[in-house]
Amino acid sequence: MKPVHDTARALLGAEPALRRMLNYWIATSLLYLAGMLLLACQVAWGHTPRGPALALGAAAAAGTLAFYILIRFSAALGLAPGVLAMLQSLFAIGCGMASYAIAGPTRAALLAMTVVIVAFCAVALRPRQTMCVSVTALAGMGAVMWRLQALYPLRYPPEIEAMNFGYLSATLLSTALLSSEMTKLRRRMKRKKEELEQALETIRTLATVDELTALANRRHMNELLTAEERRQPAGGGSCVALLDIDFFKQVNDRHGHALGDAVLREFARAARGALRANDTLARWGGEEFLLLLPDAAPQAARQVLERMADHVHALRVEGLDPERRISFSAGLAERRFGEPFTEAISRADKALYRAKASGRDRIETA
Ligand code: GH3
Ligand code: MG
Ligand code: MG
Repeated sequence: MKPVHDTARALLGAEPALRRMLNYWIATSLLYLAGMLLLACQVAWGHTPRGPALALGAAAAAGTLAFYILIRFSAALGLAPGVLAMLQSLFAIGCGMASYAIAGPTRAALLAMTVVIVAFCAVALRPRQTMCVSVTALAGMGAVMWRLQALYPLRYPPEIEAMNFGYLSATLLSTALLSSEMTKLRRRMKRKKEELEQALETIRTLATVDELTALANRRHMNELLTAEERRQPAGGGSCVALLDIDFFKQVNDRHGHALGDAVLREFARAARGALRANDTLARWGGEEFLLLLPDAAPQAARQVLERMADHVHALRVEGLDPERRISFSAGLAERRFGEPFTEAISRADKALYRAKASGRDRIETA
């Protein structure tokens, strides 16, 4: 299957929008092919002269090939889908006019082809453009009908041409209206889809990110812990640490809650800067944080926490006493083999208590 897949990829490209355009091209090409086969039958049965039929067949084949190249390389050529669709519809109208002129008695059946090709192109056109294409088709075909009945009134009776023109007008204009409605519907659906994607993104953010600090929230951290337990069912090899800001209540009491919030935001920003690529720091509650360090031995985890402490010590928050240094205490625990994270966190909590009890601004290992 791979060679087929590779060939399709080379011919149709990988980009979905380009593939969609080329799929439409395939559909219209099949329509041209059907038209040419029917034209060949007409030549064989003597209704259509061979020379003009061959010329039209060659022009249709060359045009179809040219459109494949224009569509396939439209990005490099700077051709917008709307321009390509416009060119394709004008070419289809030209082919429709030529085949009507040489089709003889079966010409009325050809009118449906013009309508269908215009409908195909309408997918990529704006409603107004579709209307323009339809009016152009009507004017072109009308001119051919007028000329035929004027030159050969016996072969092309005026009343038959008038009827053909009437049917073509009705079908072409109603198809244009229908296509416009479908275009509007597609646009509405696209807009709705974008709005839904936006809403989904907001919900995802609300569900995973802490509003104040922009760190992962507790809910998301619990998901990460579960995912990590699933990734390493036997346990071991990961560490967790609980962090609590020292004397934070004093900040709130002396400077107000708003400055307390600012300290939390700055703390989060500084702490985040010390993390390794796979580590996650979450706001576990209030001014308490949980750090998950996958694939880290206690020694490596301690280094991350020490780096974090350096970053936090260096913090200067506007509005806070300049001599006040922000610090945190931490309890670090390694996840033991076969144990769930809840147990490691509980040991980290006890270690944190020890860090607080023995003077704060330190890291205790469980
Ligand atoms: P310790 O060194 O023992 O941790 O002392 P502490 O003052 O930090 O004590 P504790 O950890 O118990 O303080 C928690 C305080 O954090 C109490 C609460 O008012 C404050 N706090 C919790 N959440 C927020 C918040 O979102 N914004 C602000 N400004 N304060 C918060
Ligand atoms: Mg606390
Ligand atoms: Mg505290």
